[in-house]
Amino acid sequence: MEVILGHLGWIEVICGPMFSGKSEELIRRLRRALIARKRVQVFKPVLDNRYSADEIVSHGDARMKSEVVGSASEILARLDWRTQVVGIDEANFLGQDLVGVAQQMADSGKQVLIAGLDTDYMGRPFPPIPDLLCLAESITKTLAICMRCGNPAKHTQRLVESEDLIVVGAAGVYEARCRRCFEPGVPKQEYLDFARPRRLNSTASQPETEPRVPAER
Ligand code: ADP
Ligand code: ZN
Repeated sequence: MEVILGHLGWIEVICGPMFSGKSEELIRRLRRALIARKRVQVFKPVLDNRYSADEIVSHGDARMKSEVVGSASEILARLDWRTQVVGIDEANFLGQDLVGVAQQMADSGKQVLIAGLDTDYMGRPFPPIPDLLCLAESITKTLAICMRCGNPAKHTQRLVESEDLIVVGAAGVYEARCRRCFEPGVPKQEYLDFARPRRLNSTASQPETEPRVPAER
């Protein structure tokens, strides 16, 4: 944001697939706010304990201390009234309630920086990011590198068998894919050892000529 008069609040959204640098960008912006001597609070959902319990951590290992919340409304409960900048990582784990919470904070003069996945493992818009994009003053879409072909990647490819909307994981569970290489859900044409359903493991003597696809459920 360039011209700021008084205590103007706003919402900035950083969204894109996994591995696209959302956390790195959020940490970069929050560090700049700290350099500007602003009062900063950082939150992450309790579900995201992949790398650290009390820090937001990027896949490139950039880190920043954060408070852990179980829900979007807990952010309001924990908010210090003096805080000027609020950072929230992994917004996709906090659900639609984050929309009202972010609006309330921005309306009360806080600068709210939110990072999260914009689409799920099926390529569908992933709440609450779609609504936040409409309400934000600033939006940034980050792209990763497709692990298949090296093109810019906007999708998060799930590599393990599950139909749950949320499966917490990083490398080995997900990878970035471009529009062309993305296969909604789980890759079917590829026989990944770690993605092999249990009952296929028990038929280890499958002939080589069998199609290299997991069995239908
Ligand atoms: P996000 O928050 O979007 O998941 P991070 O900020 O945690 O992303 O991590 C970004 C870092 O991940 C990159 O700087 C790079 O070091 C690493 N990385 C791993 N796989 C990829 C990929 N396929 N494309 C781009 N960066 C990747
Ligand atoms: Zn690709």
